[in-house]
Amino acid sequence: MTDKPLVAITGASSGIGEATARAFSAAGHPVLLMARRINRMEAMSLPRSMCRQVDVRDREQISRSVAEAEAEFGPVDMMFANAGIARLADIGRQPPEEWDEMIDINTKGVMNTVHAVMNSMMERKTGTLVMMSSIAGRKVYPDHTVYCGTKFFVHAVSESLREYLADYGVRVLVVSPGVIETEVLTGVLDEETKAAYKQNKVKIGGGIGADIVGDLILNAYQLPQNALVQEICLTPTRQKY
Ligand code: NDP
Repeated sequence: MTDKPLVAITGASSGIGEATARAFSAAGHPVLLMARRINRMEAMSLPRSMCRQVDVRDREQISRSVAEAEAEFGPVDMMFANAGIARLADIGRQPPEEWDEMIDINTKGVMNTVHAVMNSMMERKTGTLVMMSSIAGRKVYPDHTVYCGTKFFVHAVSESLREYLADYGVRVLVVSPGVIETEVLTGVLDEETKAAYKQNKVKIGGGIGADIVGDLILNAYQLPQNALVQEICLTPTRQKY
């Protein structure tokens, strides 16, 4: 038994979300896992976990899942708005439907996720929002155009939220990774862009393990509530851009 509070993670079915779920679970937290591939989350068999099939574009699904988990484990103390897709492409030939998907999931999905817990954190005057941006939320790449736009959005919203929530004692941490070894490239449908990305990845000696990101988030979360790591910007050492 543990008295550690509930943490909730979107995009928990693979990659950084899964690694973060494993890290917090190993540290004794009950976890709410949300993503579309429920079988992947259930297969993790984490103790004191609740898995919910959630599409972050559906505000209701997130709020309902949070309410169900809170009824069992108490209030969400950390929400990781991590779910995202990277439809990287040459913008000149990218179908606009790919922009729609990225904008809906990476920006509106993040807002839907924050919305599900923010008021409760303000009332309780505690909590931590972890916002998944990217190194592409700090600088642009010519074949990441709309993806960069969505991640710059996350940076801007996070900084505004950080100032807004400071008086309530709620922390806002932005995570801005470079190349991390996950399934993210399966979302790149433009073959030329994917090949160039892979080539660069080989050149820099590969990406970093997602477990390193999960552990860093846990370490930042474990600081006293009055200490905030505002941003984790982590890249492979050999990644220049
Ligand atoms: P993965 O593809 O392994 O994970 C993406 C996660 O997001 C999956 O769990 C997926 O679950 C979930 N997801 C995608 N769309 C939705 C949706 N509509 N509703 C709910 N969940 C969704 O890649 P990563 O772990 O790399 O990606 C996680 C985050 O990290 C993303 O925001 C990405 O932009 C960011 N990032 C990744 C970097 C990298 O190099 N890997 C670098 C910088 C940032 P499911 O499909 O089951 O719904």
